Amino acid sequence: MKTRRIFLQKASLSAMALAVPTLNPLSAMTKPADTLPKNAQTLRVAIMGLGSYGTRVAEAIQSCTRTKLAGVISGTPSKVVDWREKYGIPEKNCYNYENFDAIKDNPDIDAVYVITPNALHKDQVIRVAKAGKHAICEKPMAVNAADGQAMVDACKAAGVHLLIGYRMHFEPNTLEVIRMRKAGELGEIRFFQGLSGFVIGDPSQWRLDPELSGGGAMMDIGIYSINGARYMVGEEPIWVTAQEVKTDPEKFNEGVDETITFQLGFPSGAIASCLSTYNMNDLDRFYLNGSKGWAEMQPSTGYGPIKGTTHKGPLTEPIVTHQTVQMDEMAAIIFDDKKAEVPVNGEEGVKDMKIIDAIFKAIKTGGKVDLNLG
Ligand code: NAD
Repeated sequence: MKTRRIFLQKASLSAMALAVPTLNPLSAMTKPADTLPKNAQTLRVAIMGLGSYGTRVAEAIQSCTRTKLAGVISGTPSKVVDWREKYGIPEKNCYNYENFDAIKDNPDIDAVYVITPNALHKDQVIRVAKAGKHAICEKPMAVNAADGQAMVDACKAAGVHLLIGYRMHFEPNTLEVIRMRKAGELGEIRFFQGLSGFVIGDPSQWRLDPELSGGGAMMDIGIYSINGARYMVGEEPIWVTAQEVKTDPEKFNEGVDETITFQLGFPSGAIASCLSTYNMNDLDRFYLNGSKGWAEMQPSTGYGPIKGTTHKGPLTEPIVTHQTVQMDEMAAIIFDDKKAEVPVNGEEGVKDMKIIDAIFKAIKTGGKVDLNLG
């Protein structure tokens, strides 16, 4: 994510290919092709939104064992030409934002990966579901919990999967800390700290337009600390408090948060203290403290390599390209009914949206907001 942050700091958001580090795409959780079930189905994905992250995902898919980039949905014909040439995508698998409902008649596409500005996700995912295709949607899944729930409902009604692009849920060092916590090696979990932020550049980008972003740093980067608090502590929070600071109200307009600190309380009595910001550099750190041990990760959610240490020593799990592992694992979830160690379904996304709603409410009211994530 450091690459992305630097990119966002420096660049205008013109579509440009980002260098993807050459990393081992295989991890302990991804089976090599020869150990896949005999009839393992390949997930044929169309990417919607050929921007910076869509480009990264497309590159990562090239190393997948059971996911294939089969199509694109874009409003920019010149990008479609480039992508067709680069990835050998047939013209019949290319759509724009007006005509992509016709994907329902295309037997060569199984799923659409929505990688557009946040506020567009809801309608786009619902259209994908109505076209009978599985939906993979980037984080934040929506701009509030009600919209997220509408997406879950639409996918359920259509009988398709809805998966959220939570790539950290498949990252080996992250999973190792989760394994240690589940095995009791950290004892009773008492505290989590999550720091997520970078200095955002170009004030004209969609990330600073509340109509398209649905917020500011919280929707974009703070969500990593929210989601991380849940999978590191291993419980669902029951209350939230939050405070907001805005040093540049011109750049960070009404409805666009710059810096928010928030606290989460968990049923066991564990607490989390987190920071989300668009105004501080290089904040990508998780710290987990238990009665018998601790884990710290820095970087904790960037594109990698993820680095960390626990009371037992450094984390040494394989370095992977997150999106490669994510896509092959999602193929297994869709076709083999595999259960992710940490869920990536729509319901998981809605929980994060409920916490974001509660954080915004806590800032408005100045009080503690109770949460019921079920
Ligand atoms: P981007 O601006 O680079 O790309 C957005 C794409 O959406 C562009 O191709 C743009 O043309 C297209 N688009 C379609 N309709 C648009 C409209 N009305 N306004 C503006 N653009 C429109 O953004 P990005 O960094 O690729 O982010 C896209 C999504 O991916 C966001 O939801 C973001 O949170 C998510 N993301 C996730 C990760 C991750 O690590 N999981 C990383 C980066 C971004």
